[in-house]
Amino acid sequence: MLYKKNIRNLVIHCSDTDDNKNLTSIDIHKMHLEFGWDGIGYHKVITRNGTIENGRPEYWKGAHVFGKNEISLGVCLIGRKSFTELQFNALETTLINWKKNYPHAKIIGHCDAIVTHKTCPNFDVKKWCKERGLK
Ligand SMILES: [Zn+2]
Repeated sequence: MLYKKNIRNLVIHCSDTDDNKNLTSIDIHKMHLEFGWDGIGYHKVITRNGTIENGRPEYWKGAHVFGKNEISLGVCLIGRKSFTELQFNALETTLINWKKNYPHAKIIGHCDAIVTHKTCPNFDVKKWCKERGLK
């Protein structure tokens, strides 16, 4: 279980899949099942056309940020390097909604959340949040 009062991080990811592939949360679900997980590890997925799809419910501990899943929610942008404006707008909407429910949670990129060799989500989350006026 995830407890609302414990949520400290809103973690942004990318799917690290080809930018031309229009994957959905179902595809990510299948991929993560193949890893032997209990299904999709993220709480939200944002498709290339900016659709916000549900992953795990927010009361269910995710599988996306090693060692910090107990205190984090995860959202994943489909793609690797170049994300669409529709995706960034949808991401902003997702984060604004989450911030209403989790006002004390910090928005961070996967690579800033933990020590990792990954560069996920492959853009500067801190800079982007500043541009969008998100805290
Ligand atoms: Zn990630």
